[in-house]
Amino acid sequence: MRILIVEDDPVLSDGLQNSLRRSDFAVDAAHDGEAANNILTTQIYDLVILDLGLPRLDGFEVLRRLRHRGGTSPVLILTARDAVADRVKGLDLGADDYLSKPFDLPELEARVRALIRRGQSGGSALLTHGPLALDLAGHRATLDGTPLELSSRELGVLEVLMLRSGRVVNKEQLAAQLYEHDEEVGANAIEVYVHRLRKKLERAGVVIRTIRGLGYLLEKRP
Ligand code: CA
Repeated sequence: MRILIVEDDPVLSDGLQNSLRRSDFAVDAAHDGEAANNILTTQIYDLVILDLGLPRLDGFEVLRRLRHRGGTSPVLILTARDAVADRVKGLDLGADDYLSKPFDLPELEARVRALIRRGQSGGSALLTHGPLALDLAGHRATLDGTPLELSSRELGVLEVLMLRSGRVVNKEQLAAQLYEHDEEVGANAIEVYVHRLRKKLERAGVVIRTIRGLGYLLEKRP
């Protein structure tokens, strides 16, 4: 998963880059609008995080040119708090979501995952783990090439585990993926989804290990 961060504030840009790299995204950065526009004419990203106030070319213009060229990468714009007019203009120009500054990194990461999940990118979004393959854009999973029958919530659990493959995923991270903000989050419900998913994967040697007190880890049986 490749993400371009377009942000002229070096502290914020570095913080975003570090955070997203820790979540295993491949991250590029541009620090002004013209540089961003140049990169976006030749590269396809799974997501663009775009500040609006930028030197040389503002974020609106970067977005307008991207969409004018037919670029379909999802775009998350960063706006000043309460700048309603900016949000509306950004969405009208083809942004997919916005986040008001200042924001919390966990919220940004949740939005990033949601946008990538929606699969609006033209690039391939296929995650693999041993015999298991997950098409993020098509919302389909296969085991040894055979389609897996999963409920949407089981698929959501699998997406988080695969996006964070090799690291422990806690229940809060799964809950953030599975529920909208206004829905009640039940830890028991998450255990049920994980249990069902585990049953469906174990015949192929893919193991969801429970790390007591921490969360879950996707593993391949040796
Ligand atoms: Ca700025």
